Amino acid sequence: MSHIKGIAASSGIAIAKVYRLEAPDLSYNKNNVDVPEDEVKRLHEALDISKSELEKIKEHTKKSLGDEHAEIFSAHLLVLSDPELIQPIEDKIKSENVNAEAALDETANMFIDMFKNMDNEYMRERAADIQDVTKRVMAHLLDVTFPDPALINEEVVIVADDLTPSDTAQLNKQYVKGFTTDIGGRTSHSAIMARSLEIPAVVGTKEITRKAEKDEKIIVDGIDGDVIVNPTQEELDTYQQKMADFEKQKQEWAKLKDEPTVTADGTHVELAANIGTPDDVEGVLNNGGEGVGLYRTEFLYMGKSQLPTEEEQFGAYKSVLEQMGDKPVVVRTLDIGGDKELDYLDLPKELNPFLGFRAIRLCLERDDIFRTQLRALLRASVHGNLKIMFPMIATLEEFREAKNMLDEEKLKLKEEGHDISDDIEVGIMVEIPATAMIARQFAKEVDFFSIGTNDLIQYTMAADRMNERVSYLYQPYNPAILNLINNVIEAAHAEGKWAGMCGEMAGDSIAIPILLGLGLDEFSMSATSILPARTQLKDLSKEEMASYKENLLSMGTADEVVAFIKEKTNQ
Ligand code: PEP
Ligand code: MG
Repeated sequence: MSHIKGIAASSGIAIAKVYRLEAPDLSYNKNNVDVPEDEVKRLHEALDISKSELEKIKEHTKKSLGDEHAEIFSAHLLVLSDPELIQPIEDKIKSENVNAEAALDETANMFIDMFKNMDNEYMRERAADIQDVTKRVMAHLLDVTFPDPALINEEVVIVADDLTPSDTAQLNKQYVKGFTTDIGGRTSHSAIMARSLEIPAVVGTKEITRKAEKDEKIIVDGIDGDVIVNPTQEELDTYQQKMADFEKQKQEWAKLKDEPTVTADGTHVELAANIGTPDDVEGVLNNGGEGVGLYRTEFLYMGKSQLPTEEEQFGAYKSVLEQMGDKPVVVRTLDIGGDKELDYLDLPKELNPFLGFRAIRLCLERDDIFRTQLRALLRASVHGNLKIMFPMIATLEEFREAKNMLDEEKLKLKEEGHDISDDIEVGIMVEIPATAMIARQFAKEVDFFSIGTNDLIQYTMAADRMNERVSYLYQPYNPAILNLINNVIEAAHAEGKWAGMCGEMAGDSIAIPILLGLGLDEFSMSATSILPARTQLKDLSKEEMASYKENLLSMGTADEVVAFIKEKTNQ
């Protein structure tokens, strides 16, 4: 039995057996063979298994993420049936008397190199497809497991070094009971997605892949950040009980689902949810969300082989707006970069992706991509209560340029005869310290602020949000952060605008009393945090919390802040 401490990333308890998700070893020896026909047969067997797996993954993706995301697997299936690829592999086996592994690898690489260097995006995408499917076929030739979360059909806990956001999107809640990783933090996007999917998760354990073997029993405690491999019977009993208590607690929270969020002294604040796909809206409504405070549109662009079309985006935005009725929906424009990559854009690798060419920076340069999204959003605006928000704004010029493009597209669409809502609020995420510092100037031009603490903390503390080694510096309650937040809220109110927060801090039980006292108007969080937050806010007095403001802002350390709040709120 081993006990491992990590970062609690998504609450709940999972008990199941270990499923290791890791890149397989695909190294092989190049051999001469006596009977090439046998190799051709092996090749076809590997191709057939790969095809049937891809069919299953395609069906699963269609159900969980929709037709558009499943298209990539149709492209992969086409590659596997393409005689222009398969015939040369067979020819090589027969003419050179080599094994299937060598013929596959060398032929595929020849095509990949050829396509990759073409000045044609379509052909470059084909190179990526060939690369992906060759790995799967190679794994079958070598008889090594090619792990695939979408193919899991028994209850497991996933153990991995890291999970990418697109791995996470593939997880089937019915079988994947939890996950735990070596790296990552509470605000890594895979952790954020685990919360939307309501899958318990512990990340940043540093060593779980060294401690847990395939099929061993494992407990993931996403409430306190503990992982236990090979638990004793006593530990199993304890955690079964903890799981039952958590379920009971959830039923208590659920009683507040249709209640407004009102503090003990009668102030209403808005509790909204962060979503990644139209499918997440169901969870928002089931958890009593009063709006969507952040729709991360990146997921429309990920796990695909090409950019989503205007029509496809229009469909997704319209669906979210319609499902939410007259409740506000804040849609954030594309924030790709950082830990969210788009292979098909073929952007050069960067040394510091979180400080690099991401989000609005990319959109302003690739305005073809940006304008397509803006058009889809504007067209969808008549289907609900839409607000548009630009991510990673560092300067007023960036905001003005983005807003200008939005206005231009609006005019064009109107000339084309489209109906566009006339009261779409346009705001920014405040996630760069420079912007928080001059929030006064921004507040004159934007309609609202949404404070993105996930990034604001990493940039203010100079501590990568993905790096568990420096997670001790990732301090939401550091007075430096509180002063920046206060500056943003005061600036908004001075200009009669509203200030929200869509970073994970908005759903945190220590932060909630502080933010209430600072005057935050809207709290946007993972849907599952809404009811615990509403329960907590019911017992808090805004006036009392506001009276602590100056004291909190002048404290020296995060620990002092935490101790003070715990004492005042009996936590
Ligand atoms: C943030 O930075 O706080 C935020 C909400 O955006 P993301 O987590 O997608 O970077
Ligand atoms: Mg951010």
